[in-house]
Amino acid sequence: MSIRPVVRTIRGMATSDGAGVKLTRVIGSPQLMELDPFLMLDEFGTDRPEDYIAGFPDHPHRGFETVTYMLDGRMRHRDNHGNSGLLVPGSVQWMSAGRGLVHSEMPEQEHGRMRGFQLWINLPARLKMSEPRYQEFGPEQIPEVDVGPGVRVKVIAGEVAGVCGPIEQAATDPVYLDLLLDQGASFTQPLPEGHSAFLYVYEGALVAGGEGSTTPVSSQQLAVFGRGDTVVVAATAPGTRAILVAGRPLREPVARYGPFVMNTREEIMQAVEDLRAGRF
Ligand code: MN
Repeated sequence: MSIRPVVRTIRGMATSDGAGVKLTRVIGSPQLMELDPFLMLDEFGTDRPEDYIAGFPDHPHRGFETVTYMLDGRMRHRDNHGNSGLLVPGSVQWMSAGRGLVHSEMPEQEHGRMRGFQLWINLPARLKMSEPRYQEFGPEQIPEVDVGPGVRVKVIAGEVAGVCGPIEQAATDPVYLDLLLDQGASFTQPLPEGHSAFLYVYEGALVAGGEGSTTPVSSQQLAVFGRGDTVVVAATAPGTRAILVAGRPLREPVARYGPFVMNTREEIMQAVEDLRAGRF
């Protein structure tokens, strides 16, 4: 077993997107533009309705996947192909935009807390123009595993102690875990050696790494893991919560323009034209 060290820690950047939704951009800002295959990670979390109420009205996507994981609050999504659904607390929507769609993501509540994550994962060239596809699961469909004393893991994608998460995506073979740790509890998870991997602490604090080289990671910090085949973390605060995410890098050229992520500039120009001509 070789334990992955933490090679970087990053704090997100406050920004806003959609129609003025306040959020923290953790991946996809100048300090970490991408972590192949991950293009963006936003954390949204507020109990002030004015920070989220305007939502994300109609906007396009092409060439990648958006993964929304709700912790609190309810979000209604609707696209121009007739798909719609309601994301409730604890649910996940894994949307492969593929060749393109136009959708809205709007809060379905006027009060209370709205909290969650949106992760963008790239698609390989051969899948960028595939048909749009949704994988959507409510909280009752996402297995929770008690791994050891004081360690509970929700398995959204990947496998923990023989329990598999519901998401399937062969292209990047993703792992997406939500960890809940008591103070002092530790968690060890094998991850494929070639995968990019990161962890984001959203409550409490932990140390990551192992064998004399642990790195403290506090709340609202992202830790990027280096080489190895296993991740080891230990909570240093009560009720520590973090997402642990990994995926196979694509190692392809990335041409990016807002909600379009393709391989070449020509493909971006085609996306702009296709959207204008109503071909999404
Ligand atoms: Mn969107």
